[in-house]
Amino acid sequence: MSGRDEDVVIVGAGRAGHALARAIRRRSQTSTITLIAAHSAEVYPKSAFPAALAANRDPITLVQATANMVAAREDLHLLEDSPVEAIDVAGGNVCMHHGSIPFDRLVVAVGEEIGVPPVLRGNPAIQPLNRISDFHLLHGRLRLARRVMILGAGVCACELANELVRSGREVIVVDSARHPLGERLPGLAGARLRDDLARAGVRFRLDDRVLAVDPISHGRFRVHTACNERIDVDAVVSLIEARPRTSLARASGIGFGHRGIDVDGFLRTSAEGIYAIGACASLPGLMRHASIEAQARALAETLCGRPAQPEIRPEPLRLNTPDARFVLFEPPVIAGEWQERATASGVSAAFVDLSGRLRGFALAGSAIEQRDAWMTRVALQS
Ligand SMILES: Cc1cc2nc3c(=O)[nH]c(=O)nc-3n(C[C@H](O)[C@H](O)[C@H](O)COP(=O)(O)OP(=O)(O)OC[C@H]3O[C@@H](n4cnc5c(N)ncnc54)[C@H](O)[C@@H]3O)c2cc1C
Repeated sequence: MSGRDEDVVIVGAGRAGHALARAIRRRSQTSTITLIAAHSAEVYPKSAFPAALAANRDPITLVQATANMVAAREDLHLLEDSPVEAIDVAGGNVCMHHGSIPFDRLVVAVGEEIGVPPVLRGNPAIQPLNRISDFHLLHGRLRLARRVMILGAGVCACELANELVRSGREVIVVDSARHPLGERLPGLAGARLRDDLARAGVRFRLDDRVLAVDPISHGRFRVHTACNERIDVDAVVSLIEARPRTSLARASGIGFGHRGIDVDGFLRTSAEGIYAIGACASLPGLMRHASIEAQARALAETLCGRPAQPEIRPEPLRLNTPDARFVLFEPPVIAGEWQERATASGVSAAFVDLSGRLRGFALAGSAIEQRDAWMTRVALQS
């Protein structure tokens, strides 16, 4: 064990891991912070990926701080290219290929995984987009690409599709759902999002899925779909809906579910001295609305001896799709129904629980101007 109460080991150098390291250092000059990165540990905003890819921006321009800069600024013990393979909960060690590190307090910040459909795993033609190294590879592939296929029609896929058509490329989005964002949206709202993006030039192949992608010449691929379509494209990007990484928790007996590693209001997992934060963590009740930065601030306070819970600021998700104005305030998983209204200029969809209370909403087109009014009406309960 490392022996001092104020020392902490963080696994995962993404948005949450960096935010936590920064927040701890602001509160304590003396604690030893070890940040373990599976790959490189530079700081960059994933939210900039869609627009930056469409504009052929050099990947280097996205880097806000290099690993060396962060290590010096935050006085971190930084390990790069060191994926953690196991957490030895009883012994208090994190295990990597080349050795192990003891911990008294460990924070798991391993984020989420962008999937590739099982039948296409290992196919080098398919490029997922999650890390900056993916951005590097796609940047190379998209530079000369005229026709791009995107697998998945989730939020990031819609944003990338919209940016790419605005840059003059042809874009085909394939998803097995009937409209973008699948089950997260009711029919009219989903159809409106699809139609607005289609008007901007995005082609959708919905109710369909890709079965195979074969190379036909250098930088050109033939895609075969379940509905017997054959489509030739220059690049295939996978943005199948992200899933929290829970394999470390599963292997070490830490509680988890399909929404991520289970934590309480203080971000404590089921294992003593182990916390989880960010996209890999499943926060209870209304805390799911706490931003990653709010989680980092609260956990830093806790780790510095002043237990704190994250500030909750519920906000609807606004899609960064310039041609489709859309906001979604996702309801909790409870019994209820969507009630929708469509006009020529927009759609408003209300999710109402069994007692008739508004618990979530989706607004499209001109209806998004009512966003604040809807937000004041939402019944915020876990
Ligand atoms: C294309 C795209 C666009 C996005 N746009 C937005 C947006 O506009 N707004 C928004 O709020 N969010 C956006 N997101 C989501 C946002 O980026 C994530 O919510 C955020 O990055 C989550 O932070 P995190 O630190 O929990 O996970 P990540 O940032 O994914 O970091 C997790 C880190 O843990 C590392 N790791 C994983 N396993 C291990 C291991 N075993 N050992 C060591 N390290 C490990 C990973 O390599 C990674 O560096 C976008 C995501 C993508 C992919």
